[in-house]
Amino acid sequence: MSNELKNGHPAPPSTNFLRGIIEADLVSGTYADRSDSQGQPLPQVVTRFPPEPNGYLHIGHAKSICLNFGLARDYAGRCHLRFDDTNPEKEDQEYVDTIIDSVKWLGFDWNKDGQTHLYYASNYFDVMYAGAQSLIKSGLAYVDEQNAEQMRESRGTLTEPGKDSPWRNRPADESLRLFEEMRDGKHADGTLILRARIDMASPNMNLRDPAIYRIRHATHHNTGDKWCVYPMYSYAHPIEDALENISHSICTLEFEDQRPLYDWVLERLSDAGFFKKPLPHQYEFARLNLTYIITSKRKLKQLVDEKIVSGWDDPRMPTIVGLRRRGYTPEAIRLMCDRTGASKNNSWIDYSILEGALRDDLDPKAPRAVAVLRPLKLIIDNFPEGQSIDCSAPVYPPAHPQHDSEHRHFPITRELWIEREDFMEVPTKGYFRLFPGNKVRLRYGYVVECTGCDKDENGNIIAVHCSYFEDSKSGTEGSSNYKVKGNLHWVSAEHALAAEVRLYDRLFSDPHPDAGGKDFLQALNPNSKEVITAYLEPTLKSAKPGDIYQFERHGYFVADRIDSTDGKPVFNRAVTLKDSWGK
Ligand code: ATP
Ligand code: MG
Repeated sequence: MSNELKNGHPAPPSTNFLRGIIEADLVSGTYADRSDSQGQPLPQVVTRFPPEPNGYLHIGHAKSICLNFGLARDYAGRCHLRFDDTNPEKEDQEYVDTIIDSVKWLGFDWNKDGQTHLYYASNYFDVMYAGAQSLIKSGLAYVDEQNAEQMRESRGTLTEPGKDSPWRNRPADESLRLFEEMRDGKHADGTLILRARIDMASPNMNLRDPAIYRIRHATHHNTGDKWCVYPMYSYAHPIEDALENISHSICTLEFEDQRPLYDWVLERLSDAGFFKKPLPHQYEFARLNLTYIITSKRKLKQLVDEKIVSGWDDPRMPTIVGLRRRGYTPEAIRLMCDRTGASKNNSWIDYSILEGALRDDLDPKAPRAVAVLRPLKLIIDNFPEGQSIDCSAPVYPPAHPQHDSEHRHFPITRELWIEREDFMEVPTKGYFRLFPGNKVRLRYGYVVECTGCDKDENGNIIAVHCSYFEDSKSGTEGSSNYKVKGNLHWVSAEHALAAEVRLYDRLFSDPHPDAGGKDFLQALNPNSKEVITAYLEPTLKSAKPGDIYQFERHGYFVADRIDSTDGKPVFNRAVTLKDSWGK
């Protein structure tokens, strides 16, 4: 895939430091000669995408998916899809299903060499529990009886060390017994907690005896009521990685301070015989921040709950299901992710990079069609009433292999629809479309000369008149005798397909809708959706839900996959032909 940016956007850095790390590991053989528990050889690069099934995936997740699956693909490795479902309250099967669909739709696959690498962290609860028991026995974990507030108070600050809990040195036997009681449901939520015994004076706050297991009397979507103790993310995640033989565990920068704890857990459990070396290693990259969108699950949910959008798959949502419904292709999303690379520094990526990727993907492949969005009647006075003449145009753009072979056909008749903006009674300077006395070509049809217009009693223009030149038809010899500047699209009024078209635009008009604690609801773009009835080329009657076209001069439009019915497509504007923002 090319990294060159069209549409006049400056190319963002497309470096990917993770490749450098992987290549160095391949050279030094860090993960060579490994085998799994069945003795099967393991690839040297094993990555994972670990979503928590508590919401819909968004464009930020796509970045992580493309990185993890992309690196595995490029280095003959494999990537696991792992549901990080260690938090019983917020997780749901609905989310598991949509995440599976979205990853597949993006074009990635967790099957490799006949094996399916789809995992649930909750299937590892037994190992996590046994690991915790083992840490307790070695004096590396203890059951604390302080409440959340006391723990917070004794944690210290960045400049002051923390204070030991009164329970820090309790005998291992006692902690072991209490931990079992926690598991057996003998204690209420929040009354006891298992903490790693590391260093209350560590300059890294994450190492000041972090909590690793807590009590939650809650039903889990996968394990039901089997457990009432659940591991904390920072304890569970390294174990999940090690059990799956992950080599490169890639996450976002917020987890950088957690890496020492990640390593601590793995080192201690490997000393105890739980895991073999080499152990997985965590690497952090800067999360994708796109202007004009928000990616907080909580805020996206608010947009849905308050009916500001029609649902998670509203075409203005930055969710994968929303982008898909909007007309985004997996190729475009992957292209955007490739072009923006992976970096160690947080920065903003302009939304136009995403739109540019969609245009670049669709331009060479989207079939062309004609749509009149803001219709005005054009009457060809010297065209015989009741007659229609067949016109044709290539379905595909010149770059497409089927450009010459496939043609679409549509009739020209005496009355047509043209765009309102293609006529001016009194032309402004440089205007070369229709005005009285001017000639233009009706694309794929004839050259016409404008003769005037009709107005209603309020002076509004309701129809334009012209006459056509019979020998000027596109594709015939005579056509070259006419030199005109304007080239207008049109549809036959009698044959046009009247269809609902939704003109979508950015949901927010502020490039940083929720930055600095701003109320993102104040930043909504009031013009993010306009619904019109447009007149479409009759061939579009056969458009199937999900089909994407370039409507000539207007942009890319997709037949809505939910609301289109047989013979009656509804179209969504995915993106205009040119970027009109920030100009
Ligand atoms: P939560 O607050 O619920 O944890 P999350 O966005 O981190 O939200 P996860 O399901 O934990 O959701 O994310 C799965 C993976 O996607 C994680 O590895 C996370 O780092 C990554 N990810 C999430 N948002 C982005 C982003 N904007 N850019 C890159 N990666 C992201
Ligand atoms: Mg997360």
